[in-house]
Amino acid sequence: MIDHTGRTINYLRISVTDRCNLRCTYCMPAQGIKLMDHANILTYQEITEFTKIAVSKGVDKVRITGGEPLVRKEITTLIAMLSKIDGIKDLSMTTNGILLEELALPLKNAGLMRVNVSLDTLDKDKYKELTRGGDLGKVIRGLEKASQVGLQPIKINCVVETNRYEPEAMEVTSFANKMGYKIRFIQKMDLVKGTFGIVDGGSGGDCAKCNRLRLTPDGKLKPCLFSDIGIDIKTTGYKEAIEKALEIKPTKGQCNHTGAFYNIGG
Ligand code: SAM
Ligand code: SF4
Repeated sequence: MIDHTGRTINYLRISVTDRCNLRCTYCMPAQGIKLMDHANILTYQEITEFTKIAVSKGVDKVRITGGEPLVRKEITTLIAMLSKIDGIKDLSMTTNGILLEELALPLKNAGLMRVNVSLDTLDKDKYKELTRGGDLGKVIRGLEKASQVGLQPIKINCVVETNRYEPEAMEVTSFANKMGYKIRFIQKMDLVKGTFGIVDGGSGGDCAKCNRLRLTPDGKLKPCLFSDIGIDIKTTGYKEAIEKALEIKPTKGQCNHTGAFYNIGG
């Protein structure tokens, strides 16, 4: 599908939950966040129906994110439902990897093609501090399992202050090279100030080439990460929400006061 400025839109990112089993310092406050009411969270049936319509209009790339997508109950059921939709060429997930060791195989069997795993440091104490309690060993084992079962190519998302030459990022790079994982660097962003982070080795950050729509766990279709616009798919209608998003997708992102990474999914 084509938006009002002529950009081809073929990528849908679906945030399936605002819940998370970590509390990364740059993403969430230590005490957690005010959680969405369960009653407002889209069901797997609703997500699948919406995705079918998006795919019929030209989406061929779907990414599941969160919050932490692997903490949503029976996430493999959703993957199995989505993987049956004809026309999705790329079905992937962004995860912190904590639950990947146990879920990689069921996810692969359900039809997930590949994973992006977030990893900013290889120092287990720093990892624990940065994620406020995370166990680095679980992520490493999750990556190994994902690789073994063929959730490939595996990509590592590494958040950096400024660039890839920071010592922590260099260590993660050597590790990725050794293990055969790809790596992309994301500059730490401040959503409140609305500063853009350039994704080094990724495709984000260039508004003229933006090909994405985002769906929040409670069913708001967001045409831009750096805008307050969110179209309620339940009240607007699925097809109509997509058409509206194409009409009003901002030419350039400005500032976002209503969302954050943990509910839009980055
Ligand atoms: N929980 C999953 C994870 O961490 O991979 C998926 C959701 S998370 C919000 C998606 C991505 O956003 C992660 O790679 C995370 O590092 C990144 N992220 C979160 N807050 C960020 C920030 N302030 N600046 C840049 N990237 C951020
Ligand atoms: Fe959770 Fe991902 Fe945010 Fe970390 S970046 S707190 S893992 S949602």
